[in-house]
Amino acid sequence: MDRQQTTRPPSPEKTYTTGEEFLFKGRAFPLKVIEQDQGKPACIFQEDHIRLMVKPGSTPFDRQGLIDGWCRKEMQQALPLVIDKWEPLIGVKVCRFGVRKMKTRWGSCNTHAARIWLNLSLVHLPPRFLEYVTVHEMVHLLERGHNARFKGFMDRFIPDWRNLKKELKSYRL
Ligand SMILES: [Zn+2]
Repeated sequence: MDRQQTTRPPSPEKTYTTGEEFLFKGRAFPLKVIEQDQGKPACIFQEDHIRLMVKPGSTPFDRQGLIDGWCRKEMQQALPLVIDKWEPLIGVKVCRFGVRKMKTRWGSCNTHAARIWLNLSLVHLPPRFLEYVTVHEMVHLLERGHNARFKGFMDRFIPDWRNLKKELKSYRL
């Protein structure tokens, strides 16, 4: 929320250079940036590092775009599994979902369209947070407000949600 007033396009805070750490699903991985004239730019996840194959002279923006694209793909693969798991448990149907960069929220839900958006930044956090935020947004399909009824559903589906909520606040968005 504290970055709400940033004007676009912000310069990346990171340089995305070799040795810089990248948080992926709660674990820090060093980046290895390899410049090559040939071949398409690519982001490759290795056991112990993340490899960025870039053209010589690539900018931090280029490298951020590359790694964002990869993170988006990772999220788009993980998200259907979470939604498929929870749809029958919550008893709702998500019509559309997607991943986007958001400055102030971890997720959002359009209850009329039954559409949910998840913040791309969730890719940095342990997977339980992706699940928690997704369930939170899905519960909005039952109850739009953050009222007692909403909290009752959360208590039922994710008994530990209050701690997750607190922990999530400690991560900068
Ligand atoms: Zn909400």
